[in-house]
Amino acid sequence: MKILLASSEVYPYAKVGGLADVVGSLPFALSKLSHDVRVVMPKYKEVEDKIVGLKKVDDLLKIHMGNTGIMEAKMYEGKMSQEVPIYFIGNNQYFYRDQIYGTKDGDYPDNAHRFTLFSRAVLMMLKKLEWFPDVIHCNDFHTALVPVLLKTEFKDDPLYNRIATIFTIHNLAYQGIFSHDLLDEVGLDKNLYSIDKMEYWGKLNFMKGGMIFSEKINTVSPTYSKEIITPEYGNGLDGVLKTREKDLFGIINGIDYAQWNPETDRSIKKRYSNKNLKGKIKCKKNLLIEQGLKSSRLSIKAPLIGIISRLADQKGLDLVEKAMEKIINLGANLIILGTGDVHYHKIFEKMSYKFKENLKVNLRFDSKLAHKIYAGCDMFLMPSRFEPCGLGQMISLKYGTIPIVRKTGGLADTVIDCDKHIEKGTGFVFKEASSKDMLSAIKRAIDVFKDKKKWNRIVRRAMGQDFSWNKSANKYVKLYNKAILSK
Ligand code: ADP
Repeated sequence: MKILLASSEVYPYAKVGGLADVVGSLPFALSKLSHDVRVVMPKYKEVEDKIVGLKKVDDLLKIHMGNTGIMEAKMYEGKMSQEVPIYFIGNNQYFYRDQIYGTKDGDYPDNAHRFTLFSRAVLMMLKKLEWFPDVIHCNDFHTALVPVLLKTEFKDDPLYNRIATIFTIHNLAYQGIFSHDLLDEVGLDKNLYSIDKMEYWGKLNFMKGGMIFSEKINTVSPTYSKEIITPEYGNGLDGVLKTREKDLFGIINGIDYAQWNPETDRSIKKRYSNKNLKGKIKCKKNLLIEQGLKSSRLSIKAPLIGIISRLADQKGLDLVEKAMEKIINLGANLIILGTGDVHYHKIFEKMSYKFKENLKVNLRFDSKLAHKIYAGCDMFLMPSRFEPCGLGQMISLKYGTIPIVRKTGGLADTVIDCDKHIEKGTGFVFKEASSKDMLSAIKRAIDVFKDKKKWNRIVRRAMGQDFSWNKSANKYVKLYNKAILSK
C-alpha cells in the first residue's frame, strides 16, 4: 500500500505535543509491514537544525490562494530512515518563524492561510513526485483541508480522485475555527460554507471539514472515540461525529521504545530493567539532588511524584493546584515539568517558593529532564479532564513509575487500577475530576508504596506492559483498507 502521512508536527523535527510523537513513530511501524510510507510536514525554522542532507526538489509549487494571490512553496526531501522519505514544504513568509502555532500572546493570526497553503502544497507535491498514494492519513485541523480539497478542487482530476483519506483527531480542543471571509481570502469553494459542510456558528471550521470529507475518521483511543459523540466531550462537534459514527474508530497510540526504554536510555543516571530495579533508585537519588529537593535518606524514602505536561486546562492541573498542600502533607515530594498557559506558570512558580523543600517546578520544554523524571520518580500524576490518548502514562509505565490517572480517554484504556484488579493492576485510577477524588487515589498509591514488596510487584508488572506501535500499526492498515474500499 502507498501511504502518505501529512502532519504539522513530526518528531524530532518539530514537536509541540503527542501528535509529533505519533507521526514520528507510526511510519516506521508501517514501513516494517512492507508498505511504501512517506511523510510530509511544513519546513519550520527549527527543521533546518535538525535534519542533515536535506535536498531541495527543484520545481517550485505555485499555489493559488484566492484573494491572497499566487504563492510559491518549495519542496525539500529528506529521510526519516533508509525506508521512509519525508518531504518538507517551505515558504519563508509562513513557516520561517520561531514558534509553530503562535506566541505567548496567542495563535498567529494567519494560521488559516498557513495551513491552507500547506494542505494545497501536499496535494500538488504528488504531481511533481509522480507518486500518488492509495491513502493520505491526515492529522488534526492543520491537514483537515486535504480531504476537503480532494472532494472539491481536485475532484475531477483522475490522478487524485482515487486517493482515500483518513482523518485522525488527536485533540478536539483545537479545531481551526476562522472567519467565513476566509473562503475568498484563500480561495476555497463557496459551497463549503453550509451547515452540512464547514459552517460552524457563523464561522468556518477546518476540523469539521476533515470529519465530513474523509472516508474514515479515528481518534487515538477507543474510549475517547466513544466519549466524543457525547456533548460533554464533543466540543460542539458531537452532532457531526454522531452522523459519522459508523466510520469512527479508536486506535490507541503506541510508544517508541527505541526512545523510551530504561534499559537503553542514555539520558538517565543509571539504566535498569524490571529484573533489576537498583538503577531506578540511583535515578531517583540523582534527580532529587539535581532538582535541589532535600536529598536526605528521608526524602529518598518519601514518594516522589512527577508531572510532565503541557500546562493547559485540559490536563486537570487546577486539581493539582487545589490539592498541592494536601499532597505534600501526605509525605510526598513533587517535580513538575511543563510549559503553557501563563496562568499556570504564575501559580506553580508561586507554589515553588511556598513549598520549596518539597516541590520543584521547571517551566520549560526539556526532553532530557523529561527522561530523568520518568525514570527517577515513583509515581506519575495525570489528572486530565479529557485525554484523547496520552503518552505520559504509557512512558511512565515502561519506566516503572506508577501512573495515577483520571478514568478518561486513553488513560482509561491503558492504566488498570491496582485496588480494583489486585492481580492485574498497573496504576491508580480515579473517576471524578475533583481534587478530592484525585487525592484519594494519591493516598491509595502512597499506602501501597509503603509496602515495598507489594509496590515492586506493581512496578515490574507496569514495566512489562507492551504499548509498542506494532499492534496499532496493524490496526491502522486495516483502517486504511476500509477507507480505500469505501471509495
Ligand atoms: P499532549 O499531546 O496533549 O501534550 P501527550 O501525553 O499525548 O499530551 O504527549 C505529551 C508528550 O510531550 C509526552 O511525550 C511528554 O513527555 C512530552 N512533554 C510535555 N511537556 C513537556 C516538557 N515541558 N518538556 C519535555 N517533554 C514534554
